[in-house]
Order: sequence, then structure tokens, then C-alpha cells
Amino acid sequence: MADVIQLLSDHLANQIAAGEVIQRPASAVKELLENAIDAGATDIQLVIKDAGKEWIQVIDNGKGMSVTDARMSFERHATSKIKNIEDLFRIRTMGFRGEALASIAAVAQVELKTRQKDNDTGTRIVIEATEVKLQETCATAEGTNIIIKNLFFNVPARRHFLKSNTTELRHVVDEFTRVTLAHPQIAFRMWHNGTEQFHLPAGNLKTRIVDLLGGSCEKNLVPVGEKTEFLNINGFIGKPSGATRTRGLQFFFINNRFIRNSYLNHALVAAYEGLIEKDSFPFYVLFLETDPARVDVNVHPTKQEVKFEDDKMMYAYLNAAVKHALARNNISPSLDFTLNKEITQLSAVTKPQESNAVTQVQRGYLANAFSQKNQAHFIDRNDGLKKWKDLYAIAQQPIPSNPKPETGFQTALHDKQQNQLSTGQGSLLVQGSLLITTVKSGLIVIHIRRAQERIWYERLLEQWNSGKTPSQQMLFPATYEFPPHDALLLEQLLPDLSRVGFDIVPFGNYTFVVQGVPTDLPAGEEKNVLDEVIDQIKHEAKDAVGQRSDKLLMQMARRLSINKHSIQQPETQQALIDELFACSQPEFSPTGKKIFTLLRKESLDEMLG
Ligand code: ADP
Ligand code: MG
Repeated sequence: MADVIQLLSDHLANQIAAGEVIQRPASAVKELLENAIDAGATDIQLVIKDAGKEWIQVIDNGKGMSVTDARMSFERHATSKIKNIEDLFRIRTMGFRGEALASIAAVAQVELKTRQKDNDTGTRIVIEATEVKLQETCATAEGTNIIIKNLFFNVPARRHFLKSNTTELRHVVDEFTRVTLAHPQIAFRMWHNGTEQFHLPAGNLKTRIVDLLGGSCEKNLVPVGEKTEFLNINGFIGKPSGATRTRGLQFFFINNRFIRNSYLNHALVAAYEGLIEKDSFPFYVLFLETDPARVDVNVHPTKQEVKFEDDKMMYAYLNAAVKHALARNNISPSLDFTLNKEITQLSAVTKPQESNAVTQVQRGYLANAFSQKNQAHFIDRNDGLKKWKDLYAIAQQPIPSNPKPETGFQTALHDKQQNQLSTGQGSLLVQGSLLITTVKSGLIVIHIRRAQERIWYERLLEQWNSGKTPSQQMLFPATYEFPPHDALLLEQLLPDLSRVGFDIVPFGNYTFVVQGVPTDLPAGEEKNVLDEVIDQIKHEAKDAVGQRSDKLLMQMARRLSINKHSIQQPETQQALIDELFACSQPEFSPTGKKIFTLLRKESLDEMLG
């Protein structure tokens, strides 16, 4: 039998490996940005065309490469960043496997220009599918300027696999966001198809977050800062009130490297327990810093997943740090640092350990949170009392009675829908937010704002489907400037917005002119609606178009219903009830919250003994 084993050619090996490192334009963007950062650049520019499919260029002012290094950098396992196995455990630079440039060069046309500070001339190299086409001396700025053209031009299957430009651009922007968040001290700019998308001056984490995500997020930021020998935690979390229904801007960085970790996410979300609704997601940008030897970042080729030496400790520390931050900012009503039993009993927590580090930690704030088990101070004891008072206040007002034989809940609803019930004798407004009315089977308590949201939502949906949304031209068109990130999204949303009655024209430089608004929108509310819609879309995980327009409608319904006008009049109360029960889904708000509850007569009787 003939021998069948062959060595793969370098080119083929690179092509195969490329699939691991470079899956899409965004992965190339990430690698190039990280190389620029590792080269000590203070100013980095990213230029892409067609979502990076045609052109990805990164220009940095870093230390550049020598002639030999420039050539070497495209070899597989060529790296200046690790020399021995020990380095692997101490690694603090972004990339270190020496695979990125080799992988990129295997699947694209690459042009590199680079010059070191002390050299008068630089080097230019052109490579196509691993083959060096040209190497020459050239004049170029200090630093490195690399262009990746026609990604996957020689791997049609991969190229075919790429998503629409919108989706690929989204991935690029996601990578850009992560990288720029991790390096606020570096100035970044990004252009797409000739338009500048981001302009991020060097600053601190807060200015970076605001520059990236828009000024409206600033009031929502709560700083987190804990320093212990075991772990440092720094960054910002969102106030509970800013939590959103979709998982969105949630970033963990371990030793300045972006990671995904559902375990840590759980630790964080658990700290918000009782402060946010069950299915909403808090914002966070948190940097955890620990001895790199405790973290194995290299378990996954794209390096977003990590393993910790002691993840229960991580969990406990993070959870406590977030609670502390919320409490310190008077956001959480009680300082209840009771820790999970399992964690408090971990030997790492209970037993003083050999190293100095632990003694240090034990003096810190977080350690106290661990050792003083079951602390429950500052619990708001007035809470119960307040409820009784509320009840008393309600009881003092006359409740219209409408004694009729009780029927089941469905019947009540049915009766209501059939307009068989007389509610004309009045409903009762409770603190401007609840409306109580009688039905055959007892009392219905209606959450007014949710009811209004439902009513508006169905109205808007009908208009959307019929394509007949009343729009009103503004007497004085308003011009608004948006943060770059937002402007990009807004531009994509224009067709949807026009369908709900907005008439908005892009004006360049992230500026938009609002010429017309939906007829029912109260004057001056247009900017709020747009901000909220953008905010919502940002938090979306996918770009499912159907979901997106639904979000838009929900957001508008919310905005329109916030408008607290004249629910005082009995006629408007009645109109609200009638309209609600004329809805196709009167039970739940568009975001799935209960709109009303039925207090059955029997239960009321039972309560009263
Ligand atoms: P890695 O970053 O994992 O070392 P890469 O393939 O990304 O591997 O890069 C190979 C080498 O090329 C780097 O180790 C570095 O020495 C050099 N290099 C790449 N990009 C730059 C740059 N922008 N400026 C200076 N040197 C660079
Ligand atoms: Mg690299």
C-alpha cells in the first residue's frame, strides 16, 4: 500500500487556521486594532468600505516594524510577544499567538506600510494569498498602515457565508466598541464608506462610554471601584431604572480583554435582585483585574471565553462589589450583603490563607461582606407600614359598589367586552396610577399607564399595517445632532420611522432635520422618542427587522402614554376602560406586563372574614 499521509502546504495550513481566527471582517478589525494597541499607538484610525468586505485599513502611530519584522510578521507563529511558555501565563498584551497576520494574508490581499521612529524610510509589502508580491522601501508616516482588501477573495464559500453589509457592519462596530472601551486613553476614529462614524478623543472610561453610546446614558452611570489583592473591579454599571428589556450593553473585561461569561453575568444581575424587573438587563462596563495566572484566557481561539482558577470567589466578589456600588449611590434601599451560603463556606473565604494577599483582602470592604454573615442592616422597616397607610387612604374614599352575582374571570372580561356592564356609575382613580371599576364578579384594578400603552400600541400597529399614519409637518423643522453611534443607527431606522409618521432627513455630520412628526406626538417630544428608540435598538441582540419595527411601535406607545393628561375626568376614565377592552389583547401591555387584575367578590368577602 502506498503512503497516504502528506504534509499540508503552508498556504493550505494558513487557510485552514484562518477560519479559526478570521471569521468575518470584524475579526480582522479586532486583530488589527489590537496589534496597533500592542505597538503602543496613541492614535488609531479605522477605515472600512462595504462593512469591511472590500477594505479594512488600520493606521496607527505606534512603534512600527523593521524591514525584517515587517516580512516576518506574516509568518505563522511569528510573534514578538511570547518567548517561552512562562510568558503564556503572564501575557498582558492583546494578541500573542502570532497567527493573525498570517491568517489574514492567507485569505486576502494585504498591503502593509510601516516605519520605525529612527528610520528615515519605511517598508512596503504587498501579499496576496500568502504570496509576497512586492517588498520595497517607501516613504510613510511613523507607525503602521495596513490595508486588507477583498477578504476571502480566494475562499468563495466563506465569502458567500458573510451576512448583509448591515449585519457585518454591526459586528465591526461591536468589535470597535469593545476595543475602544478597553482603551479610553487612546484616540480612535472610524470611517465607513467615506463617512466618519466615530470620533473618540483620548479620555477616561466615562468620556469614552459617553462618546460611544451617547450623552443620554451619562445620567444612568454608577461608578464601581473595588480594590483588593485578589481582584480589582472598576467601571460603571447602570442604574436599575435604566435597565432594558433586551440584553445589550453588557461588557466584562478581564485584564482589559473583553470576555463573555454567563457566570459572571449572573453574579452581576443577582446584585440587582429586587431592583429591576425579572426579564430586564442592566447596563455594565466592568473591568476585572486579577493575576493573569489565575485566568486561562486561551481556552477558545477567539479568546472571548475564559476559565478562572476560582470562579466562586470571582462570583462573590463581583456580586458584592455591585451591591456596594448601588448602595453607596443610594440606589438599593437596603444594604443587605447576605452572601450565598455555599460561597461563605468556601475555604477560600472562611480560612485565612497562607499568602499576604489574603490578609490584605480581609481588611478590605469586600472581605467584611463575606465574613459578617447574614448581615441585614438598613432594611427599610417602614416599608410594611407604608403599605398599610396606602390601604387606609384607599379605604377612605368611597368605592362605588355594583353588587351582581359573581361569575368567573373570563365572564367578567367577556361582559366587559360585550359592553354589558354598566361602569357608567363611575370608577375610582387611585393616586393617579390605578383605576378601579366594578364588574359583575368583583372589582377590576387597572394599571392606567399600561392600559394606555396597550391602547396606543394597537392604534399604532393598525396605522402601521394600513400604511396610513397621520403625520404633521413641523412649523419650524428641528435640527438635532446625535452621537456617532446613534446617528448610524438612526440612519438605518429612517424607513421605519417614516412609516410611523416621522419625516426626517439626514443632514450630514450626525445631524438630522425633523420636518414632520406623528400627529399624536406632543410637541417637543420627538427627540425623546428618537433617543429612546435608538436606545432600544442598541440593546437588541439580533437585527430581526420585524422585531425592530415592533420595538419602535412599543417605544412610541410608551412615550405617548407617559403623557399624563386629564385622566381625572370620569368620561376619560370611562373612555380608557372602553378602549382597553376593545383591544385585541387587553390583559397585557405590549411589553408583556399585566394590565389589570380582578378582585373577586368571594375573595373580598373572605378577606373581610
Ligand atoms: P501577534 O499579535 O499574536 O503577535 P500577529 O500576527 O497579529 O501576531 O502579529 C505578528 C507580529 O507582527 C506582532 O507580534 C508584532 O511584532 C508585529 N506587528 C503586527 N502589527 C503591528 C503593528 N501595527 N505595529 C507594530 N508591529 C506589529
Ligand atoms: Mg496580533
